[in-house]
Amino acid sequence: MEFEALKKETVMLIPNEDMAERRIASEVRRDPLTGRTARICHFMKLQWEKPDFDALIAGTETWCPFCPDKVLKVTPCFPADIIPEGRLQKEDMVIFPNIAPYDSIGAVATFGPHYIPMTDLTPELVAAAFRFAQDFFRRLERSGHPESVYHIINWNYMPPAGSSLIHPHLQVFSSSSAPNLLRQELEASRKYAEDHGATFWEDLVGAEKKSGQRYLGQIGRTHWMTTFAPMGVAGDVLAVVEDARCTLDLTDQDLMNLARGIARVIAEYDQMGIYSFNMNFFTGAATDGHFRFHLIFSPRAFFNQKLGTPDVGALRNLFNETLCMAFPEDIAAGLKKGF
Ligand SMILES: [Zn+2]
Repeated sequence: MEFEALKKETVMLIPNEDMAERRIASEVRRDPLTGRTARICHFMKLQWEKPDFDALIAGTETWCPFCPDKVLKVTPCFPADIIPEGRLQKEDMVIFPNIAPYDSIGAVATFGPHYIPMTDLTPELVAAAFRFAQDFFRRLERSGHPESVYHIINWNYMPPAGSSLIHPHLQVFSSSSAPNLLRQELEASRKYAEDHGATFWEDLVGAEKKSGQRYLGQIGRTHWMTTFAPMGVAGDVLAVVEDARCTLDLTDQDLMNLARGIARVIAEYDQMGIYSFNMNFFTGAATDGHFRFHLIFSPRAFFNQKLGTPDVGALRNLFNETLCMAFPEDIAAGLKKGF
């Protein structure tokens, strides 16, 4: 397992310090699986201001299509060959087709009341939403649908993470077309198994556990760590599930343990003023013995909060080169308190 970091240094002269020389370090890190590079730079204290949530949320429930008074009136239904009853419903949760689909089997799972503060996303609530999505995946799998290959949950929590609605919801989709980064991981993971006669994910967990620099802890079969080459400006948290190749391999207990870990990570990022995140499932197909199910939790923030400047600029959008504003090892030291 190679953790490669190319150290760089910028020299500049500072006019209001009598042209004193300043040297600023940065690093270009390579993801140990895919070789994707990530910059560690702009070192700053990871602290943001939370907005006035009352002002942000006020009135949004009146037009929210996911609120209980509207969800069954305005959201579409599945055809009978997929979900004969049209939508899946359990307590306050509903699964229906995404009105703006990006694949043939794309659904949205709504849950909870209109607004759930990030720190109120309890393990029970999140596990219930994951289990509900899992019910949808299992039904699709049982029907023998050709898109029942990669079963993915994506989560955009709050607008800075890409959500156009306040109401909590998950993007739930099954596809035979793995998205870019997942496909690159699958290819690299297969190659690693061929070259090393070992599973990359088991080697990664072993190496991270041994060094302890980024490893946060274990909850059941789930192993938590910050990633060596993060995509998020405030780092990324990775959870790898032992012996699980794909989403359908996850037990109810695994889903609860993933939800427990997410709640711990949320509690720590909340202290930094973070109130928004992305979370994606990374899954193999059922036959991908070389792969291990994992999820990545990535907090979302701003480059300039007052101007609303998002944390994705040209470097990330067009080069897919990422910036993280602190060392993942330091971020891990902060998050470890929760584990
Ligand atoms: Zn709502």
